[in-house]
Amino acid sequence: MPKGFFNVPKAVNEPVKAYTPNSPEKAAVLAAYQKMWNETIDVPMHIGSQEVRTGNTRTMSAPHDHKHIVGTYHLGEATHVTQAIDAALEARKKWANMPWEHRAAIFLKAAELIAGPYRARINAATMIAQSKTIFQAEIDAACELIDFLRYNVAFMTQIYSDQPASVSDIWNRVEYRPLEGFVYAITPFNFTAIAANLPASAALMGNTVVWKPSDSQVFSAKVIIDVFQEAGVPDGVINVIFGDPVMITDIVLKHPDFAGVHYTGSTFVFKEIWKKIGENIHTYKTYPRIVGETGGKDFVLAHPSADVKQVVANTIRGAFEFQGQKCSAASRAYFPKSLWPAIKDEMGKELASIKMGSPEDFSNFVTAVIHEGSFDKLVSYIEQAKQDADAEILFGGNYDKSVGYFIQPTVILTTNPKYKTMETELFGPVLTVYVYEDADWKDTLTLIDQTSEYALTGAVFSQDRYAIVEATQALENSAGNFYINDKPTGAVVGMQPFGGARASGTNDKAGSMQNLLRWVSPRTIKETFVTPANYRYPFLGE
Ligand code: NAD
Repeated sequence: MPKGFFNVPKAVNEPVKAYTPNSPEKAAVLAAYQKMWNETIDVPMHIGSQEVRTGNTRTMSAPHDHKHIVGTYHLGEATHVTQAIDAALEARKKWANMPWEHRAAIFLKAAELIAGPYRARINAATMIAQSKTIFQAEIDAACELIDFLRYNVAFMTQIYSDQPASVSDIWNRVEYRPLEGFVYAITPFNFTAIAANLPASAALMGNTVVWKPSDSQVFSAKVIIDVFQEAGVPDGVINVIFGDPVMITDIVLKHPDFAGVHYTGSTFVFKEIWKKIGENIHTYKTYPRIVGETGGKDFVLAHPSADVKQVVANTIRGAFEFQGQKCSAASRAYFPKSLWPAIKDEMGKELASIKMGSPEDFSNFVTAVIHEGSFDKLVSYIEQAKQDADAEILFGGNYDKSVGYFIQPTVILTTNPKYKTMETELFGPVLTVYVYEDADWKDTLTLIDQTSEYALTGAVFSQDRYAIVEATQALENSAGNFYINDKPTGAVVGMQPFGGARASGTNDKAGSMQNLLRWVSPRTIKETFVTPANYRYPFLGE
């Protein structure tokens, strides 16, 4: 047990490296990229102390060159899921009693490993697996992950230090116990940082975890596994399992010791998980914590007072960086008629300058979308827009999957504010624009609020403070992260706690104290120093 009230290092955000043409970081990441590109790795599952290879494998390739194989990974069966749960429950016996400063030390070490010796590797793996440009890889796999790890340690100590009042003869204490059971982490393809944070945040608070990464992210998940091992996460604390997500999830959710799910991914899947938890509720020993951050249909709104260049630059970044595959990506835009000719002109010029191709070529701003399923879905919406009377393809609209899953940044202009691509999350480089009459500003605020089931991010551009106030109030429930004169993407841990409400999730704000509180179950301890030895109160004297 601790013999001191220890201070942890002050959490600071990891500086984003620039990767300018002759920089050492550019040389390092390209060397790592080429090495990883030219090898093939074999990724086992990790269950307890075992690396498990089933021989039932699937290949991994890069979205921008889908015929190029960079490795294989092993798929589990039902028995492996049960073994992973057993390993988590066994490890919990020691891990839940590990003094907090040692849990903190492990994850702080992981942060430093990523900041230093693993930085080039985790960025290169993310460039290959998820087809991110170096900048997108750096702000995700390196910086955001480091920030999650450092800030969560600081938040953990804030939680532990939050204690109730006591008086001289009664000492009240709260201890923040890990959940009784195990936590299930299900992670999406699009952020390496989220993949690591969902299991790590629960483990930091003393829980043991079964982690199921996305099939499209296993290549970069392998670097996370290596970092956790080198940082000293003990066997069984984070068990990694690959395979059929429905099979794995059904087994996990039927287990009596299931204590919580930490999920990020699409909305439909989360609702299915929630439903299954409800169906199994009589099985569990404890009410499970359900934390899920899900889809978005994120908006950009320009007021007639907005600066056109700012609107266009931030809409392009918000909509097309990482091919629009961020939950926070701008995918519907509302522009006033008075500014529309200038916005359209500027947007056309800027989009014409964008290069698309492999992330290995640093001059490319856009690379490939994650897989064929996503490519085909996006193409179907683009083709439909070409047919529909109330939509037209204004920019882009071309695509090619012969080498990689490339979709040109595409802008659809619609006259129907409820057109399907104004409402549905497409998760790709497709932005739909609706031009409103300047006089309809107030109605447009209502329209934005009522168009989609999601409420994740949104941005308003204006030089008029009254308009900013009006939009901020009218859109209070339309976005969990609201931006004024900035793009709706790029939340930074410790700066803009991230998460949305409505169909976008439980809004537990990843990388914040609120999130960590979901992974503990407080126990209040009251200790009385001079204990009464007679039941009679003074008022009974009559
Ligand atoms: P996805 O829903 O396809 O997959 C997410 C995870 O769920 C994967 O591990 C997948 O294998 C698993 N899964 C799929 N079907 C399942 C099922 N039936 N039962 C249990 N698990 C299942 O999502 P994705 O394509 O990996 O990620 C993109 C989605 O994630 C988008 O909707 C995006 O908005 C969302 N997202 C949200 C946030 C946020 O913070 N709100 C962040 C990142 C991504």
